[in-house]
Amino acid sequence: MVDKYLVIGNPITHSKSPFIHQSFAAQTEQNLSYDKQLVAVDEFENFIKQFQAKGGKGCNITVPFKEQAFSLADQLSPRAKAAGAVNTLIFNSDGTISGDNTDGQGLVADILAHDIVIKHKRILLIGAGGAARGCILPLLAQHPQVMVIANRSKDKAITLAEKFGNAGNVSGCGLDEISGEFDIIINSTSASLSNQLPNIDQAIVANASCCYDMAYGNEETCFLTWARELGVLHTIDGLGMLVGQAAESFRLWRGITPSTTSVLAHLRQQLKQS
Ligand code: NDP
Repeated sequence: MVDKYLVIGNPITHSKSPFIHQSFAAQTEQNLSYDKQLVAVDEFENFIKQFQAKGGKGCNITVPFKEQAFSLADQLSPRAKAAGAVNTLIFNSDGTISGDNTDGQGLVADILAHDIVIKHKRILLIGAGGAARGCILPLLAQHPQVMVIANRSKDKAITLAEKFGNAGNVSGCGLDEISGEFDIIINSTSASLSNQLPNIDQAIVANASCCYDMAYGNEETCFLTWARELGVLHTIDGLGMLVGQAAESFRLWRGITPSTTSVLAHLRQQLKQS
């Protein structure tokens, strides 16, 4: 029987996960199916249990269910605990469910794939939402010199930084309080989705050597255009992170790490044509 996987969200129509995972399966000759599933907001837990009972092997979880998946899992990985959110569920043979968060691994893998060094560098993480939370531990595992988390709602950044205080040199502040110079700036806000820029001093951006925007689209995001026009050498969008988090989920399920290069190139081409 074919092993069944799903990505679950609401909305889910535009998810690229089925294409990505089907490509990984073909590349690695794994016998599996991977589909997308729209689930009503109050039906998440029921749906998961039913899918598990029918022999499903695992799921990716997207908006708005990542926190519910976190609560549902019987075991959580350290990075899922740190994120407070789960994007990958693994149905174990003993009937338990493990939860993990692969977003941060996807981000780090993509940054490193661009030959950007994180070790000993100064990182500015803009935003303190779910995506930011998922990335802090994997970024700290690369041993940056400093990480500053800056958020529009300042208290969220400070609370988040305090949570990770023991794991590295991490501090939090408001967007108008950022000081110092940074090598890598990561925009984890959802501002780009509405064509807005986070309200930060342009000198901070101009001094960076790499700006990463977790958002992506068929055109360059406004944050990356801003950074490029300010002379930032490396500007990278979140498409590689998307493929990277999928590769890490695939590894957790199948024990094999797929190559992301051709899938990413294909998605990039699709985006350009849309
Ligand atoms: P959340 O809703 O959890 O958090 C949104 C964050 O953006 C908050 O910190 C919020 O600040 C901030 N924000 C929103 N609008 C603005 C603005 N105009 N100016 C400044 N800050 C703003 O979203 P997520 O963390 O889940 O997602 C954030 C982004 O990351 C999205 O673009 C999403 O598409 C992307 N993403 C990409 C992934 C990938 O694989 N490439 C994976 C996951 C997410 P405040 O707290 O003040 O409201």
